[in-house]
Amino acid sequence: MYKVLVTGGAGFIGSHFVKRLLRRDDVPRVTVLDALTYAGHTANLGEAFLDPRLTFVHGNILDAPLVDELMARHTAVVHFAAESHVDRSLTTANAFFATNVLGTRTLAASAGRHGIAKFVHVSTDEVYGSLAEGSADEDAPLRPGVPYAASKAAGDLVALSHFRTYGLPLCVTRSSNNYGPRQFPEKVIPFFTTRLLQGEKVTLHGKGQHVRNWLHVEDNCAGIELVLCDGKPGEIYNLGGGTDLTSRDLTAKILALCGKDWDSVTCIPDRKANDLRYSMLCDKIAALGFRPTRDLDAGLAETVDWYRRNSDRWAPLVRAPYAAHATDPTASFAGEGARAH
Ligand code: NAD
Repeated sequence: MYKVLVTGGAGFIGSHFVKRLLRRDDVPRVTVLDALTYAGHTANLGEAFLDPRLTFVHGNILDAPLVDELMARHTAVVHFAAESHVDRSLTTANAFFATNVLGTRTLAASAGRHGIAKFVHVSTDEVYGSLAEGSADEDAPLRPGVPYAASKAAGDLVALSHFRTYGLPLCVTRSSNNYGPRQFPEKVIPFFTTRLLQGEKVTLHGKGQHVRNWLHVEDNCAGIELVLCDGKPGEIYNLGGGTDLTSRDLTAKILALCGKDWDSVTCIPDRKANDLRYSMLCDKIAALGFRPTRDLDAGLAETVDWYRRNSDRWAPLVRAPYAAHATDPTASFAGEGARAH
């Protein structure tokens, strides 16, 4: 197995992935490179720090000399680091293009120079944009609707150009909405959960008609691991197959798990930049042997329970400065009924 450099490993999905890698005996080294933005927290790695194979480096993927230094000591890269929250991208888009596009370019260029054997670039179903009907396969046109999705789509193209131009053995994964423990409480499931657990109201846009596919974070990490080991260089793998749900149905489930009813929900008008529906065909990853294993109801119950038991972890994060824009439910929640990342 590889010596793996994991970018963004102190974030939500990256930290689950690092723990997963360390459960393997054949991984000799895992290094996390993370800038610890508002979304990154070393506490997410917790007990993983007890493993001598793990090294944490506090740094930015845009720091080319640092990236070069780290790349020289690894044989594979799994690239999670990103600005990941749609609503923030509506007001602070430059940070998204810096990290998600130029950061990806910095990593891919360095990986090529150092003969990296496998590079997995982690992306999202949002690059395909909203689909009124049907489902996107990996060859579907990219029609990102919001700055976050545009920056991820641009990052995907930059990454793939390094395969085509320089032969970097690179794969792209595009996953649907992830959920699970330790997600930053600005994303819809932990945002709703933490507000409801505090006795506060949540807001739902429009009629709650927006559809997303929900994939447990451990299932996504299993798919990414599969692509790291068996993915064919130059290929894109859609990674979904969780459960499709409208934001209204998702809200109903979270209300029930938090012991609340619809009195805790305020419905507000929808806004323009609110993609109605994402949907992907996932035959390619299925052909590699991927099957999601987590049932949504069980996974959601376990997730809400984690937030109930770990308020010490999230309570500081729902206050300023972390959640500067998350204190006004109408502003912060614009679109949250429909978005998760
Ligand atoms: P997250 O926001 O929880 O974590 C991102 C991590 O990247 C943080 O630890 C942050 O400190 C780090 N980071 C940000 N900018 C950096 C930089 N310039 N240099 C180094 N580190 C930096 O995000 P997440 O939800 O774990 O998402 C991980 C990846 O998966 C992202 O690329 C995202 O686009 C993609 N994705 C997420 C979802 C989802 O539902 N969460 C779905 C599909 C794809």
